[in-house]
Amino acid sequence: TIGMLAIDKNGDISGACTTSGLAYKMGGRVGDSPIIGAGLFIDNEIGGCVATGLGEEVVKTVGSFLVVELMRQGKTPQEACEEAIKRIIKKPNSDYKNFQVGYIAVNKAGETGSFAIHQWFSSTKYQDGKNENIQADFIVK
Ligand code: ASP
Repeated sequence: TIGMLAIDKNGDISGACTTSGLAYKMGGRVGDSPIIGAGLFIDNEIGGCVATGLGEEVVKTVGSFLVVELMRQGKTPQEACEEAIKRIIKKPNSDYKNFQVGYIAVNKAGETGSFAIHQWFSSTKYQDGKNENIQADFIVK
């Protein structure tokens, strides 16, 4: 999945994602990316989030919506991404060591965050004419 979030000079937030799905997926499978609230969610009053990884796990936790709602409750984008990942790995019998999920988020103030289950989840932040490469913090060491 490629996910993008943008905030303009007026503070208006937008987002997009595109995915080829998963390799060897079942015919007819719909991943998280085309489902608003799962792979992508924007609330222009609060912020936005996009997801990557095993879409079934994102759908089952309504992940991007969850991240935005956590920001609505006062969490930073970073804290919200971490909490949404913890929801997945805390589920009974979660097989999280064998799949990846990652989130990036932005809030209305332009603060950003990212978090993933495994390492090598990277993103690029473009601000004031500069690119910054970010390696997300992760759970599985
Ligand atoms: N999230 C996508 C899906 O489950 C896969 C990906 O991240 O590329 O369809």
